[in-house]
Amino acid sequence: MAGFAYLVCEVHGTARSELAAGYSREAGPHEHAEEVTLDKLAAGDPHLAGATIYSTLEPCSQRRSPHTPCAQRILAAGVPRVVIAWRKPALFVDDCIGYEPLVKVGVTVVDKLAAAAKAVRDLCARHAPSCKEKCIV
Ligand SMILES: [Zn+2]
Repeated sequence: MAGFAYLVCEVHGTARSELAAGYSREAGPHEHAEEVTLDKLAAGDPHLAGATIYSTLEPCSQRRSPHTPCAQRILAAGVPRVVIAWRKPALFVDDCIGYEPLVKVGVTVVDKLAAAAKAVRDLCARHAPSCKEKCIV
């Protein structure tokens, strides 16, 4: 992985078989992991219709470079499910909304960090309902 590359992505078919994988800046200084990964698959690949993209971060909704945002690429590829570890923090871009356009058209987006935080809050509510500590998740 080169320099500041922090984002990795895999595309899996319906049987969880890996169709392609990539990481940020794998193919050039401005390439994102989703972009690199999707570019490894043929447009119209029939596996994409049942595929899941696993990505360390929320797909981008805007680019500084003249590349198509990854959320738009995912929609164009017809991938119905995206699993992310983390919504894109303001560290990278102030107003990333890569999650919203995907969900709006029916793509299932699983936000693992949000799901983990909810699980912890639910656990606390079940086992320590009288706890007065401020929850950090
Ligand atoms: Zn991107």
